[in-house]
Amino acid sequence: MSLFIVKEAERCLQCKKPMCMEGCPAHTNIPQVVQAFKENRLLEAGETLFENNPLSLVCSIVCDHEAQCTGHCVLGKKGSPIIFYEIERFISDSYLDRLKKKGVAENNGKQVAVIGAGPSGMTVAIILAKHGYNVTIFYDNDKIGGMLQYGIPDFRLNKQILERYKNVMQQMGIRFRPNTAIGESITIENLKRDGYASIFVGTGVWRPKMLGIEGETLANVHYGISYLGNPSVYQLGNNVAIIGMGNVAMDVARTALRHGSEHVTLYARSKRIAASENEVEFTRLDGAEFVFGRAIEKITQSGPVFRVAKFDENDNVTGYEEELEQVEADSVIIAVSQAPKNKLILTTEGLEGNDRGLLVIDENCMTTCEGVFSAGDVVHGSNTVVAAIHEAKKAAAGMMKYMEG
Ligand SMILES: Cc1cc2nc3c(=O)[nH]c(=O)nc-3n(C[C@H](O)[C@H](O)[C@H](O)COP(=O)(O)OP(=O)(O)OC[C@H]3O[C@@H](n4cnc5c(N)ncnc54)[C@H](O)[C@@H]3O)c2cc1C
Repeated sequence: MSLFIVKEAERCLQCKKPMCMEGCPAHTNIPQVVQAFKENRLLEAGETLFENNPLSLVCSIVCDHEAQCTGHCVLGKKGSPIIFYEIERFISDSYLDRLKKKGVAENNGKQVAVIGAGPSGMTVAIILAKHGYNVTIFYDNDKIGGMLQYGIPDFRLNKQILERYKNVMQQMGIRFRPNTAIGESITIENLKRDGYASIFVGTGVWRPKMLGIEGETLANVHYGISYLGNPSVYQLGNNVAIIGMGNVAMDVARTALRHGSEHVTLYARSKRIAASENEVEFTRLDGAEFVFGRAIEKITQSGPVFRVAKFDENDNVTGYEEELEQVEADSVIIAVSQAPKNKLILTTEGLEGNDRGLLVIDENCMTTCEGVFSAGDVVHGSNTVVAAIHEAKKAAAGMMKYMEG
């Protein structure tokens, strides 16, 4: 952390119509936070951030700032935009452990179950606990954070932050049931039986999408999302081929390079990269290579086999070469998106998903099952942390309206 944040705060123009705020999916009141920070009112700045976005510390680290706050700063039109996320990070980091029970309403005796401890579940739990509800979070892993814990690599997000969140949440009265998958032994019906007045489902998308090709079950093939959960248990070898060029593929490549693989290559069918510019640049800087115009046909013990695309002058794929290309690789990692698991839909009467298995919700974020609400990736598909938080705030409001009504 450098003192340049003080200079950054001084540069803020305090715009009447702050574009930075519009660019932030959580609509953080950036001018107000910067002003409080400049005037040494750090707790006030921290409270403003936390009330609007309980995971502001996480967002200050993992959001795509160039596309959001920083990218919308008017100063960026002719010069350097304000690096607000570093100011936000400093304030949120300093504020988080001082939160404690501050601002928690008197207990109202109502019980709420939150299924999933990712950004959406954490947000709902914090908001409802602050309003006096007894919140229990159920999650099928041993640590909280969801994809923050098991997807985003350590070198991008220090996992100690999530432990600090857990402490704060415990102090707010939130109870935790780790290693408890709902939809296996315990069902949503059981939760209703045991008196939970409302239930939130924030279970995300944890089922890797399969390619449906020959060789996908071989020992040298893995799924990106499974690999990121615990990279140190994999022996990938020196040459790694990654199928896909989305954000998850970038994290897989950078992690593999940090775990000793020397040649890591990402393959895409077209010339389009789905990942954000920043992630691509960091991946390049880490030493990964990018190969375009390769459509995966099958995987053998020697590596992936591709059809090689032909392009027109606009870089559109027009067809494929006749001969297949066998690429030598010790391991192949498939990173072509995720879908939700279907445990909850299969075990809960009336809970409906769409054709992609994503939960259907109404304008109050209530699912097709009375009293059961949802938000985050399990509703919208793979998205971002800040989007999950924004939607979870709406769900928490919907749940309170339901329970009070
Ligand atoms: C590798 C990777 C990198 C990413 N990088 C970024 C990034 O840099 N910036 C960004 O903004 N976004 C990033 N994302 C996306 C972001 O992490 C997700 O959009 C966000 O975590 C979604 O939050 P969520 O609460 O909906 O679900 P999740 O974070 O997926 O959390 C789901 C929770 O539900 C639990 N669960 C699932 N099923 C059950 C069940 N049946 N019973 C009990 N518990 C269950 C899980 O254990 C978990 O705790 C990344 C995603 C991945 C995969």
